Amino acid sequence: MASVTIRGVRKDYGPLRIIRDIDLDVADREFITLVGPSGCGKSTLLRMIAGLEKISGGDISIGSERVNDVAPMHRDVAMVFQSYALYPHMTVADNISFGLRMRHVMADKIEAAVQRAAAVLNLDQLLKRRPGQLSGGQRQRVAMGRAMVRNPRLFLFDEPLSNLDAKLRVQMRAEIKALHRRLGSTSIYVTHDQVEAMTMADRIVVMNQGRIEQQGTPEMLYDRPATLFVAGFIGSPSMNLISGILHDGHLGLQDGSWLPFPASMAVDGQAVTLGIRPEDIHPAAYGIAAEVVDVEPTGVDTLLLCRFAGVQVTASVRERYRAAPGTPIRLAFNTGKLHAFDTTTGRTLID
Ligand code: ADP
Ligand code: MG
Repeated sequence: MASVTIRGVRKDYGPLRIIRDIDLDVADREFITLVGPSGCGKSTLLRMIAGLEKISGGDISIGSERVNDVAPMHRDVAMVFQSYALYPHMTVADNISFGLRMRHVMADKIEAAVQRAAAVLNLDQLLKRRPGQLSGGQRQRVAMGRAMVRNPRLFLFDEPLSNLDAKLRVQMRAEIKALHRRLGSTSIYVTHDQVEAMTMADRIVVMNQGRIEQQGTPEMLYDRPATLFVAGFIGSPSMNLISGILHDGHLGLQDGSWLPFPASMAVDGQAVTLGIRPEDIHPAAYGIAAEVVDVEPTGVDTLLLCRFAGVQVTASVRERYRAAPGTPIRLAFNTGKLHAFDTTTGRTLID
C-alpha cells in the first residue's frame, strides 16, 4: 500500500496548458474521487500518475519513491478504464491472469490469485466464458479482477462505470466501495458524475480547467463550497445562484426588491452572488412573492421552478405539490443556509 504525493505538477501540449501546477496528497488506504467537467484534465492527471503520460513539470511520488522517471510497469499501479479492453478470444480466467502470465508468475500462484479475485468479484461461475458471453457489469468486474490480481499498491480508476446503465452503476459503485474496504488499497477514482463522486469518496477533489478548485469530504464540499464553480457543480439539482449588487447589506435585484445577504465581508456596490440550495427554499405565507413556472415531481421530492424579479429558482419540497404555470406563490429562504460569493473572483465571502 502507498500514499501519493503530487507537487507542482504541470502538463503542457505545446502552448496548451492542460494541468496547471497541481498539489495533491493522497493518504495510504484513502479512496479519493477526482471530479470535474469533461476536458478539465482528470484523465491526463491520472495517466501521469500511472506513468502513461510524461509530466511537463513538478514531482510525483508513490510511497517514498519519486516516480517521475519510473516506467509504468515498475510503478506497481493498476488502472481500470472506461473501456474494459478485454481480449475477446480469451476466457475470463485468461483475461484476469494475462498480466501475471506476461510476468512469468508460477502457474499455481496464478491459479490461486485468479480464484481469490473471482471469489471476491463473484465471477467463480464465469471463469470459462469469453467476454462476448458476459453482460456489461460482468465485463467490468473482469477488468477489476485483472487489476486486482496484480495486488498493486495503488488503484487508478478512469470513469470505469460510464458505460453501464444507471441501475448497474449504482450496484457496481457499492461493490467497488466494498472491495476497497476489504483490500484497503489506496485508490484514485475519476468521474465526471458528482453523485458518484459524493457517494464513493472519503475525500473529493474538484478539478476545473486543469486546476484543483477545492478538496474535502463530500459534506464539506456540499455545505461550504469555496467557489461559485464548486457551488454549481456539487449537488443536484444545483444550487440556485442569484447575482446582483450589494446595498446596505442586502442583495439588490433589478426591480428594486432585495434579498437577505449573509456576508459581512462584502462592501456596498460590490457585485455579489447569493447561493441557496433547492432544499433551503420553501413555500411560506410570509415569503417573497413569486410565480410558478413549472412543477416537477421526482417521486421522493417535488421540484418547484419559480420566478420572481426576473430570477428563476428551483425549490425542492418533500410534500406533493400541484400548481399550474403562472400560479402565484410565496417563497421563504432558510437564511441560516445562504451562501455568498464575489461574482468577479468567484470566491466565497463566508470564511
Ligand atoms: P478529462 O478526462 O477531464 O475529460 P482530459 O484529461 O482527457 O480531460 O483532457 C484534458 C484536456 O487536454 C482536453 O482539453 C483535451 O482536449 C486535451 N488533450 C488531451 N490529450 C491531448 C493531446 N495529446 N494533445 C493536445 N491536447 C490534449
Ligand atoms: Mg477523461
